[in-house]
Amino acid sequence: MKTYIHGDPPSSTGGLVAYSESKPYGGSSSVDSSQVEAKKKRVVVLGTGWAGTSFFKNLDCSLYDVQVVSPLNYFAFTPLLPSVTCGTVEARSVVEPIRNIIRKKNGEIQFWEAECIKIDAANKRVHCRSNDSTIVKGKEEFLVDYDYLVIAIGAQVNTFNTPGVMEHCHFLKEIEDAQKIRRSVIDCFERASLPNLSEDERKTALHFVIVGGGPTGVEFAAELHDFFCEDLVEIYPTVKDLVKITVIQSGDHILNMFDERISSFAEQKFQRDGIDVKIGQRVISVSDKAITTKAKANGQISSVPYGMVIWSTGIRIRPVVMDFMQQIGQNNRRALATDEWLRVEGCDGIYALGDCGTIHQRKVMEDISAIFNVADEDKSGTLTVKEFQDVIDDIIVRYPQVEHYLKSRHMNDVVDLLNDSKGDERKESIELDIEGFKSALSHVDSQMKNLPATAQVASQQGVYLARCFNHMKDCEDNPEGPLRFRESGRHQFQPFRYKHFGQFAPLGGEQAAAELPGDWVSIGHSTQWLWYSVYASKQVSWRTRALVVSDWTRRFIFGRDSSRI
Ligand code: FAD
Ligand code: MG
Repeated sequence: MKTYIHGDPPSSTGGLVAYSESKPYGGSSSVDSSQVEAKKKRVVVLGTGWAGTSFFKNLDCSLYDVQVVSPLNYFAFTPLLPSVTCGTVEARSVVEPIRNIIRKKNGEIQFWEAECIKIDAANKRVHCRSNDSTIVKGKEEFLVDYDYLVIAIGAQVNTFNTPGVMEHCHFLKEIEDAQKIRRSVIDCFERASLPNLSEDERKTALHFVIVGGGPTGVEFAAELHDFFCEDLVEIYPTVKDLVKITVIQSGDHILNMFDERISSFAEQKFQRDGIDVKIGQRVISVSDKAITTKAKANGQISSVPYGMVIWSTGIRIRPVVMDFMQQIGQNNRRALATDEWLRVEGCDGIYALGDCGTIHQRKVMEDISAIFNVADEDKSGTLTVKEFQDVIDDIIVRYPQVEHYLKSRHMNDVVDLLNDSKGDERKESIELDIEGFKSALSHVDSQMKNLPATAQVASQQGVYLARCFNHMKDCEDNPEGPLRFRESGRHQFQPFRYKHFGQFAPLGGEQAAAELPGDWVSIGHSTQWLWYSVYASKQVSWRTRALVVSDWTRRFIFGRDSSRI
């Protein structure tokens, strides 16, 4: 027996059915899609984070039947999570209910608060499960059929299978993690203030260890140090000299993905602040009392007792994505591989955005013969400068590494590439055969880089894909993309191009560092003000903007609240 969740026929719910109790998991209790007289294609979005939200916010929902599935019914502004850990801003100030966002889209989106537990690409459906424990038994699982599936479920913390990490460490990935950290920090101070503790026990309770010297770990260390110096020192006078903050980093520097000037400024500032930075150390286990590290240089093992450990060393894909990757033969990948149009490789109608995906950029050298054949318009077997110039725009759009390579070699004109291989010959008279062409372009692929797992990338991908969906029909008739080198015609869309607007590293004490486009580096108090204005402007709604700004103001006037709620 089929049970429709809202008692509606599937045509209006977009093919959504509850699992029938009589059918085993994975059975065919879904609606036969031929019965569904679907005028609009069904778009199912998994996840309400940066990528998913930016996708459906920008989608023209009148063109599609849109359903969103996520276990969280809100969008979280993750860059402010470290501020939530110490009460600089409140948790509710950095989240926006998904239904608020949907309401602004005239309710053309349906939202299911549930987790996707399996993607069934063969049958074009996803299996979902509600986390609501009070739900009637047998109704917690349901299927959602799709024509297009947008996977934007982000990633999870990576413990690298280090023993004890799951059991004893805090993470900083979700809103709840930040709230838990806030309570635990105060717990540590209250515990250290109890009457019957020895000095050593108090010191242990106030030893905060941060594993991972990336942007999140460093920002949390800075927040914690500010919280302590600006607020807690006055309300816990008896224990104020016992506090210790340690940052453990496996690499040689903290913030090593930033410009060298920023990472050395951060290291010096932390040294002045008394934050202990231990570099070249790998954590090998965490017990309920101590954290054990191994020095990379000499293999020396040491253990230190702690009050609280925050684990912030990176991310890995979620099990449901891993399972899906096995289904489609992507076993050996770090994340779901897509092409430059964000389409999952080897699938039809499935896209992956944000942290759960990675773009597999084609190499110029993989397609070099095809490029040569298309460029050699007169089929002479050689390429003139004019012939090369005619296709260069398409090459650069299709293979952005060519442009990065030119920049890295300070070349203004692509023809310089050909010049490079032909020595001093005059530009106009250069003519290359396939071997010459191969050698001219042989190094361009060295400039290929994976995009970082950031909110900036995720939200730009959401905007990009929504635009593709909005123009799907127009671009079918009038493709706007670059020339296809391996086949005829043009690509339907321009490939996704990431625009880097720079990144910040708040370092505490009203100081921040920023790496801005064009190799600009800015450090200090004025950068912190730039940080405030950028993060205020990037808020998803006027409501959260007002809340965040008023939290900052409250903090300036009254300090942070240390109640353990
Ligand atoms: P997420 O934003 O993580 O969203 C994933 C969504 O999928 C969530 O809604 C989740 O509930 C949902 N989901 C999970 N499992 C399932 C499932 N099985 N089925 C359906 N839905 C599911 N980036 C920056 O650019 N700048 C910063 O300053 C910055 N600071 C950060 C600070 C912290 C503390 C953290 C943790 C991250 C920070 N990032 C920052 C990185 C940024 O948050 C991520 O890159 C970004 O969130 C990725 O977006 P996403 O949509 O891929 O994933
Ligand atoms: Mg020719």
